Amino acid sequence: MGIAFADQEKLTTGAPAAAPASGVFIDIDLDTDGRQAGHVRIAHSPHHDAWGAEMIPIVSIRNGAGPTILIEAGNHGDEYEGQIALANLARTTDPRSIRGQIILLPAVNAPAVRAAQRCSPVDGLNFNRAFPGHPLGTLSQQIAHCLSATLMPRAQYFLDLHSGGSSLSILPSAIVETARDPAATAANFRAACAFGADTVVFVNNLGEPRTATATASRLGLVTVGTELRGGGGVDNAALAMCERGIRNILAHAGIAATGQAGASAPRVLSVAEAGAYHLAPKTGVLQHLVGLGQPVARDEPLALIHDPFAPFEPPLELRSQLSGVVFALRHPAGVAPGNCCAVIATEGAETAGLL
Ligand code: CA
Repeated sequence: MGIAFADQEKLTTGAPAAAPASGVFIDIDLDTDGRQAGHVRIAHSPHHDAWGAEMIPIVSIRNGAGPTILIEAGNHGDEYEGQIALANLARTTDPRSIRGQIILLPAVNAPAVRAAQRCSPVDGLNFNRAFPGHPLGTLSQQIAHCLSATLMPRAQYFLDLHSGGSSLSILPSAIVETARDPAATAANFRAACAFGADTVVFVNNLGEPRTATATASRLGLVTVGTELRGGGGVDNAALAMCERGIRNILAHAGIAATGQAGASAPRVLSVAEAGAYHLAPKTGVLQHLVGLGQPVARDEPLALIHDPFAPFEPPLELRSQLSGVVFALRHPAGVAPGNCCAVIATEGAETAGLL
């Protein structure tokens, strides 16, 4: 006798009636003081390893009662500054120098980090669109579920360290998660300012609810993101900003006694509308005419798209749809229709209705 359609639906898309055995196991005790490194193990049964597990590195640094911060890097596998910063932090933090707990995931999307790719080579998913995840889902969905159901509820603060990745270079900045509750947005903004970056940017991700930061903020955690250059490499200035910012957030959370000096009054920008994203209308070779952080006027040429197959045709001019500041630029020169070539942020947050 077959399973009823409604039950099939429940199995594949809905929350099961009883909590399922998730096959996720953390091999360190998060309630123990001191410094521990281990793994989140997720049962995984591919062709080459029938009874194996995905091993996601996790570090706990704990000293008694106090606030808890969860920090992840490698959400996208080709974003590297945060991965280095968290490994450095894990090695150099004496538990006696803090109160409360720091939980680090330096390579949270482990398969994508190993492959140096944005998306997971196991299930093809973008981990930052897999939240809140599912205990019976694909590997990315199971990792996301471990965070949203097990790790985030232990914490009051969440820091998600992104860079531009292979396809973008981004103005190094702290990112404010905009929440439905204005008080939560204000708390996220204060924490982003405390990070000490020169630039703080409100990014509403066009309302995207499936990100790690949107999920943490919905769960009530004070949440900060970063964008740290990118282009598929490691930028030393962005790495230094990241490491300084983490110390500052630890102080802001009351976990470390003091932070490190950062920008006193950051420039505040917003990426709040679809017009911020400038997409290639045709295939060709992209030549930028502006640089990161540069002010631009509406209708100012941002880039040229050349067609080497039509040498007598003038290059297509990509013009700014907004007055603002260059926040992100596509890194590879080859473009196809729909590729994001530039993102223009606008000054302030109040005018965008984000604060
Ligand atoms: Ca990213």
